[in-house]
Amino acid sequence: MQLYNNLSAKERAELIEKAGKERLTISFYKYAKIGNTQIFRNHMFLAWDALDVLGRIYVAHEGINAQLSVPAENFESFKNHLDTITFLENVRLNIAIEHDNFAFLKLKVKVRHKIVADGLNDNTFDVTNKGVHVDAEQFNALIEDPDTVLVDMRNHYESEIGHFKNAITPDVDTFRESLDLIEEDLKEHKEDKKLVMYCTGGIRCEKASAYYKHKGFKNVFQLEGGIINYTRQVESEGLENKFIGKNFVFDQRRSERISDDVIASCHQCGKPADTHTNCANEACHLLFIQCDECKEKMENCCSSHCQEVIKLPYEEQKKLRKGQGNSNDIFKKGRADHLPYKKDLRNIFETQRKERIK
Ligand SMILES: [Zn+2]
Ligand SMILES: [Zn+2]
Repeated sequence: MQLYNNLSAKERAELIEKAGKERLTISFYKYAKIGNTQIFRNHMFLAWDALDVLGRIYVAHEGINAQLSVPAENFESFKNHLDTITFLENVRLNIAIEHDNFAFLKLKVKVRHKIVADGLNDNTFDVTNKGVHVDAEQFNALIEDPDTVLVDMRNHYESEIGHFKNAITPDVDTFRESLDLIEEDLKEHKEDKKLVMYCTGGIRCEKASAYYKHKGFKNVFQLEGGIINYTRQVESEGLENKFIGKNFVFDQRRSERISDDVIASCHQCGKPADTHTNCANEACHLLFIQCDECKEKMENCCSSHCQEVIKLPYEEQKKLRKGQGNSNDIFKKGRADHLPYKKDLRNIFETQRKERIK
């Protein structure tokens, strides 16, 4: 039985290219009690590997969180397989609006402690006692309500390139930090304000909404399926789009354009830009926003130092990387003092708190 990848990313990319078939980029999650995570993990790997599914999937005792791509022709079989698993029957699949056949090049199903790194102690509250799920139409109406406080539950580098009009965009690295900040701001309004939240695909709100209910908030709402699902509904039902800019996503595409507005700036020259890049220096790998001109001039690097490093022989670069740990984790990145135009979201956030939480 083969339970792990045997192809390199390069070999896989060549296979996909040769097959020339459309792949769908899909994400889904479900909080559910999973007893033996390793057996469940192996079961999923075998079934999906056979269907040529690629992606990054986390399995934990609290549930499953999956970002993947599946050949369009295997979609039915994939869906049928999900339906054979009790807690995944009819699970909502978020299907991306822009597809990239190379969004994922490996199938990685990992057993983790949590399906989202959230820093919350699960035993303190019931994750399944969640907020009211609203669809795009209800959400549009709700966010016009003067009693609504709309909170973006994502991190600073995500909301920087796109968010809902009038949303509060906390300047945080993890949504755990947002929870306390918002609770503190709204402590006098747990019963009269409507706390409405959204994130990329809904998973962070699922937990956040349960957390706020546990903390005594009476009116907690969450955008079902997050921005990804909202965008699809807006398009298919002809609704007004209230999201401006780009939606940051966690695969090779980095983002999906939702509206033509470019709300961010190149972190190096300040010109309007909203494309994230990872610094080409492997030892740095900083996630930042870079315009096309700076990209060319800086050769994909975040600084002239990094530009020098990438020109060193490979062995010397490797020496420099030693002991730095895994810098590939983009979730921890996105801040650096040497980027003069990285938006100071702290100030923006402070203004939002004063203006919108009264
Ligand atoms: Zn620039
Ligand atoms: Zn760099």
